[in-house]
Amino acid sequence: MHTRPVWAEISRHNLIANYLELRRLAREHVSAGASVEVLAVVKADAYGHGLRVCSPLLAGAGADWLGVTSVEEGVRARAVCPESSILVMSGLWHGEADAILEHRLTPLIWERFHLDLLENATQQRSIPDGSIAVHLEIDTGMSRQGVPIPDPQGKEVGAILERLRASPALRLEGVATHFSAPEVIDGEDTKRQRSCLEMAIELIAASGLRPRWIHAGNSATLLEGEQIEPLRQLAARIGAQLMLRPGLSLYGYAPRFSGAGELEADGRMAGSGLFPVLAWKTRVTSLRTIGPGEGAGYNATFRAERATRLALLPLGYADGLSRLLSNRGSVLVHGRRAPIAGRISMDQTIVDVTDIPGVEIGDEVVVLGKQGGVAIDAYELADLMGTIPYEVLCDIAERVPRVPVD
Ligand SMILES: *Cc1c(COP(=O)(O)O)cnc(C)c1O
Repeated sequence: MHTRPVWAEISRHNLIANYLELRRLAREHVSAGASVEVLAVVKADAYGHGLRVCSPLLAGAGADWLGVTSVEEGVRARAVCPESSILVMSGLWHGEADAILEHRLTPLIWERFHLDLLENATQQRSIPDGSIAVHLEIDTGMSRQGVPIPDPQGKEVGAILERLRASPALRLEGVATHFSAPEVIDGEDTKRQRSCLEMAIELIAASGLRPRWIHAGNSATLLEGEQIEPLRQLAARIGAQLMLRPGLSLYGYAPRFSGAGELEADGRMAGSGLFPVLAWKTRVTSLRTIGPGEGAGYNATFRAERATRLALLPLGYADGLSRLLSNRGSVLVHGRRAPIAGRISMDQTIVDVTDIPGVEIGDEVVVLGKQGGVAIDAYELADLMGTIPYEVLCDIAERVPRVPVD
């Protein structure tokens, strides 16, 4: 039951348009006749947009691959996408291997215990395809996950490759890495990481393994474009296909280097050809007027300097509206900005509508999105909070229903 007037509208049209646009751009960057696959990252509940709503739309738009963080997310994605290939991007943990087999998930692996868990699970049950497809992550410089390359003695990568080669239960289907600074155009770090990936690919080729996929790169890699053809050529050297893994851009936000962060009149992120997918809305649930000197909210951090009309919104930091926006952020009412007055509470927020005539209980309020000719995007909130749009979107709480529109 959703009766509280707080909701997030998810534009089906924009999500699909973004996927198609990203695939078009990716293809534009590879040489004629060559192919490139675009995996849709739907981790963290599709960046706060709702995995159940977004995954089937992306699969329907042509995304054969979906990327999730955990086995739990993979199981949820499988429930709505029976045909998709689902990449679990953060390894696996004890007790999860059975679910990987049962739900036909594809784990990204790099620790020896990942191999142990999967091999043990295959001994308990028969596998339809005879073996489990796994993707090996190479740590080319992010120092987060993956087998490190360069690996001075070649011990770790050698041992893992040998086990994969010898294992009847496991099949190396893909090799992946993650770039640490893909938004830096012509960045030295990315170049260094690409040459480490090249070293890894040579080792893999020498071991006789033939993965079908090489994947690397996120939204920034895809939109910046310069890395795509070199990566594709690298993959082609061992007969593999390149796959890119955009996340944020699917939801309409481009990295800053492409001039994004401003909305054009038609809702497109300026310069990127992408449309924000999520609009976060609520309604005015109460109104009052306070006099000069009177305070609003906890500790009266807002104090009226004139007769001030205040509107109450039934959402707060428990909904994901960061308390850091207290006295800093604004919302849209009647197509105009209403500043947040005082501290955001757990479940409520007060806004100053003194300069917006005619506001009434029930009026629609936009927290994130467009109203009239004005827009508030996740970059604006992120800047006020000192963070990135990823966090603004992921912060929107589960109790806010995601409502598919258009
Ligand atoms: C989150 C993630 C991505 C997508 O990154 P964006 O910047 O959102 O495009 C790609 N690959 C991996 C491994 C990730 O964790």
